[in-house]
Amino acid sequence: MRLESIENSLLSTTVNSALRKIISRFDIDCEEDGNLMVNSLKQFLGENVILCETCSNLNSKIARPFYEIGSRLLRIEKKFMEERFLDPKYGNAWLKGFALMMKGIEKYGIQIPFTPGGPFEVVWNFTYTCNLKCRHCYEDAGTLKQELSTEEACFAIDSLSKVASVGLPALSFSGGEPLMRRDFFEVAAYARKKIPYLSVATNGTLLTRDNARQLKDVGISYVEISLDGATKDVHEEFRRVPGCFEKTIQGIQNSIDEGLDTCIATTVHRENLDEFESILELSDKLGVRFMHFNYIPTGRAKDLVELDLSPRQRLSILQALGTKIVNLAIQAKQEEANTGKSKTRTDRLFSTCPQYASVVKRIAREKKQDFAVSAHYAVMKGVESVANFLGGCGAGRLYMCLEPNGDIKPCVFLPTDELMVRGNILEKPLEEVWDHDEIFWKLRKRDKLKSYEIKGRSVGCGCCEDKYICGGCRARSYSYFKGDLDEPDIGCIDNKELWKRMNR
Ligand code: SF4
Ligand code: SF4
Repeated sequence: MRLESIENSLLSTTVNSALRKIISRFDIDCEEDGNLMVNSLKQFLGENVILCETCSNLNSKIARPFYEIGSRLLRIEKKFMEERFLDPKYGNAWLKGFALMMKGIEKYGIQIPFTPGGPFEVVWNFTYTCNLKCRHCYEDAGTLKQELSTEEACFAIDSLSKVASVGLPALSFSGGEPLMRRDFFEVAAYARKKIPYLSVATNGTLLTRDNARQLKDVGISYVEISLDGATKDVHEEFRRVPGCFEKTIQGIQNSIDEGLDTCIATTVHRENLDEFESILELSDKLGVRFMHFNYIPTGRAKDLVELDLSPRQRLSILQALGTKIVNLAIQAKQEEANTGKSKTRTDRLFSTCPQYASVVKRIAREKKQDFAVSAHYAVMKGVESVANFLGGCGAGRLYMCLEPNGDIKPCVFLPTDELMVRGNILEKPLEEVWDHDEIFWKLRKRDKLKSYEIKGRSVGCGCCEDKYICGGCRARSYSYFKGDLDEPDIGCIDNKELWKRMNR
C-alpha cells in the first residue's frame, strides 16, 4: 500500500473514529500494573512485563494487534522503537512521548501535521536576568521583573508532570541565563524527580567545573551553549561583555570534560555568516552536537532586522548542514548493511529553521535516499514515513514555552504580548490551554497559511507542497507581518520574491 493512501485512509473520519475508540479501550490506568498503553508497548517490544488478568486479556486482544499492524503500516522499524523505548537512560522520556502521541489520537484524531495529547517539550525561560548583554536576545533579558518563586516554580513542575495524565517527557531551562538564578540547582533537582529528560540552554560563561559537575549530579541530560563566533571579536561584538568568549569556550570544555551531552548553538546572521564553517568545524573537532538557530527578528533582534539572512544565505547554511547529515545517514546505512550495526552518529546536526526538512528532503532525493528531518531534530532513521506528521514548526503543537513569571506562550520566539500570552501556569491548567486555546489550534493548522500571486506564480507557505513537513517559522511571520501568524516565512528560498518585495 502506498504511503499517501495510508495517510489518506488514516485521516478519514471512519478510520479516525475507529482508532480513537480502539485506543480508548486500552488507555487505562490499572491500579495493579500502571498504564496499559505503555505496558503493552513494552511487552510488544520484548520486555517482560507482568500484567493482571484483565490487562493481559486487553493486551492480547486489542493492544498487541494494534501495535503490530500500526508499526507495519507506518513502516516504523521495530529495532528503532526498541532502541528508543527500552533505553535505560532515556526510555522513560520516549515512552511518555509515545503515550502523549496515543492520547493525541484519542483526543483529537489523526491530523497532519500531528498534535499529541500534551507537549513533548516545554522550554522554560527560567529567568529574566543575564550576565551578558546580547544584541539579539529574544527575551530582552537584563531587566528586573517579577519571576516565579522557588515554591511556585515547583508548583509549575508539578503541573507539567501531570499533563494529560502522562506527564511531560522533556523540559529545557533557558533564559536569560538560567544559571543566574540561585535556586537553579534546587529547582532542577526537583524537576528531575518528575520529568525524565532535562536540558539547559546557557551562554556558558558560568559553566565552571563545579557548575558542570552539579548539572550532571542533578541529572541534566543535555547542555546547549551559545557561541556566536569562532573568534573573540565576532562573539563579543554580539554578546557585549569583554572576556566572555574565553569563558564560554572554557564552559564548553568543562561540559565535555564532565561527560555531559554538549551542543554548540549558533544564531547565524549577516555579521557571523563567515564564521559558520569554522564553528561547525569546532563542533566536529570537539565531538559535540551543533544547533543552527534561525535568525528571528524578535525581542532585541526586532531592532536589528537588517541582520536577517537573505533566503539564499539561509539556504547555503541549510544545504551545508543537510548535505552533511544526509551523507552521515548514508554512511550509517551502509555500515549497518555491511556489519549489522553502525557507529556513525546521525543525531549531531540540528536547525531550528523549519525549511531544514524541505532542504534535506530535496538533497536526499537527489541522492536517491528517503530521509526525514524535522525542525529542531536530526535525521529520523526508521521513521521516514512519519515526516508529514512531525510537521516542521512545532510551536504550540509539539512544544510550548513558559516565561519566568509562569506565562504560557506557544514558542519562545513569539513575543510576550497580549495576544501570545495564553494564560499563566499558576492560574490556568496547562491542559486547558493545550486542549482548547484558539492560538494554539491556529498554529497547528496549515490550511489557512497565505500565498500571493507574483509574476504569474503563486508564492508563499499556503501553496507550498512542503507545508506539512515545514510550515515556515510562524514567529518570523508574526514579526514581519505585524502580528499575523498565517503569512509566509519570507526567509525561505521558495519565497524569495516576497523577500525582495519587502526589502525594496
Ligand atoms: S514556502 Fe513556507 S512551507 Fe514551503 S518550504 Fe518555504 S517556509 Fe516551508
Ligand atoms: S515559530 Fe516554529 S519554527 Fe519558529 S522558532 Fe518557534 S517552533 Fe521554531
